[in-house]
Amino acid sequence: MQKIKIVENIQKGKIMKTTNIVDVLKAGSSDWNNWKWQMQYKAICSNTDQLVAIGLLDSNFEPRRRRIGLTPYNVKLLLSLKDSDPEGYRAESLQSILPTSSKDSEHQWVWAKRHDLASSKIWERLPIPAFLKILFTGKGSDTETQALENMYPNTDIIIATATCARHCSFCFREVGDAHGEASQITGDLEEVQMAVKEAIERKTPHILVTGGDPLTRNNKQLREILEPLVKSETVQVLRLATRLVVDLPMRFYDTELLEMFREFASRMKSRNASFRIVTHVNHPCELASEAIRAIKNIQSSGVDIMDQTVVLRGVNDKPEILSRLLMTLDRLGIRNHKLFHAMPVAGTEHLRIPMRRFRKLLSTLHQFLPGTSVPQANAPTLVGKMPITPSGRWMLSIPFTNRIICRSFRGEWYLFRDTWDIRRHLKEVGIALTLALSLTILAQAPRVKPQFTKIVVLPNALLDEWFIRKNFEPFVSGDALVIPQTMIE
Ligand code: SF4
Repeated sequence: MQKIKIVENIQKGKIMKTTNIVDVLKAGSSDWNNWKWQMQYKAICSNTDQLVAIGLLDSNFEPRRRRIGLTPYNVKLLLSLKDSDPEGYRAESLQSILPTSSKDSEHQWVWAKRHDLASSKIWERLPIPAFLKILFTGKGSDTETQALENMYPNTDIIIATATCARHCSFCFREVGDAHGEASQITGDLEEVQMAVKEAIERKTPHILVTGGDPLTRNNKQLREILEPLVKSETVQVLRLATRLVVDLPMRFYDTELLEMFREFASRMKSRNASFRIVTHVNHPCELASEAIRAIKNIQSSGVDIMDQTVVLRGVNDKPEILSRLLMTLDRLGIRNHKLFHAMPVAGTEHLRIPMRRFRKLLSTLHQFLPGTSVPQANAPTLVGKMPITPSGRWMLSIPFTNRIICRSFRGEWYLFRDTWDIRRHLKEVGIALTLALSLTILAQAPRVKPQFTKIVVLPNALLDEWFIRKNFEPFVSGDALVIPQTMIE
C-alpha cells in the first residue's frame, strides 16, 4: 500500500488545506468504494499531524485520552461539512474527537462484565446487604464467557469484536482508549464462537451481535459467527448492531455481504423468526448520499433496519435537529427504536445533558412528531435500561445532588448519576427558601387569643318578651360571653 504523507505534500505545496481527500489519497472509485481499502487508510487519516495539515485540527491540538479513529470517508464527510454545513461539521467533529482531555473522576459505566473487575471482587466480599451493593455499584452481566453479556432475561449480547471504523468520542466501551472497556475484549474468533454456542445452549430468544462493530469482520468470519444463530430454532430475533451504515457505508456496497443478508433474512423468516440490522445515527448530516445508498442496499436484501440515537450536547440536543433526524429516518423506512440519554463515561461529561432537559426534549418530540417517528427513550444504567417519560415517572431526583434513584425491572434500586443541572438546583433552592420562609412567617404570626374565658347563658325567663328574645345579640361582658338560651335550644 502506498502511504501518502499528507503533511509532506502540503508542505511541498502539492495540495491545499481542506482539500479533497480523494485526490490526496489518489483514490480511484474502486478503491474508494472498497471498505477494506478504507480501513487500510484509517491509520493515515487518524494521524494527528495529518489532520492538522488538512485543517481538521488546530495546530495547538493536544493528544487526548482516546486515539482518534477516522477512515478516508469520515475525513471526506468532515471536510465537505466544514464548507457547506457548520452545524453538521460541529456535530461530526464532536462525535469524532473527544473535545477535552479532562478526566471526569466518576465513571459509572465500567465494563458490563463487572464480576471480572478487581473492585467488584472487593465489593462482593464486603459484609453489607446485597441491595446496598446494587444501589451504589449496579449489576453487570452474569456470564463468565468473555464475549457474552447478559443483563436481561430474554436477551444475550455477543461481542463480536472490539474494532470500529470511527472511534466515537462518547463511546461507553471506549474504543480508542488503551485502558477502556474495548481494550479488554480480545475479539478472538474462537471466543466469539464460544459465546454464540453458550447463547444457543441457554435458549435465549433475542440475540444482539455487537462490538465494536461486527461488520468490520470479513464476510467469512461474519458467516461463522451468524450461521449457528440463524440455524438455531431457539433464536427468534437476531439483531446485528452496526454503525458502518453511516461511518463506512461502503461496507454495504459489498454484494457478497448483501447476498448473505438476503439468505439469513429469508431463512429466519421461513421459520417465523427475524433478522435485523440496528444502526446508530445521531445527526442528519450523517445521512449523506453514500449512507442512503447503503440503507437502500440493506433494505433491498430484505433486511429491516432499526435506529438508535444518543442525545449529545452540541450534537443533537435541540428539538429541531432531533426532529429532522427522526423524520428523515422514518421516511427512509428505518424504525426509530431507542433514544438514549448518554451514559456516564469518564471524560465525556460535557457531552451529556441533564435528565430534566432530556425529558423536555422528549415531550417536544411527542408533541411535534408522528408516533412512528418518536422512539422509546431510555437511560442505560447498570441495572438495565430505564424508561424515560416526559413526566419523569420511573426516576426520582434526589434534591441538591446529581443522583437519581431508579428501580430496575427486577425491583433493584440503583443510584444513577445524572449530569449536574444548575437550573434544577436553582429551582430546588427556590422551593427550599419558599418553604423555610413560609414556616418562619407561620411561626411568627400572632396567636389569636380568645376574648372571654366563660359563657353565660341568659335563661328565657330573664328575657321574657318575645321581641327582646328575638332581637337579642350575644355580647362580651368582662371575661364572659353572654348568649340567650334560645340560641342553644
Ligand atoms: S461505533 Fe459504537 S462501539 Fe464503535 S466507537 Fe462508535 S459507539 Fe463505540
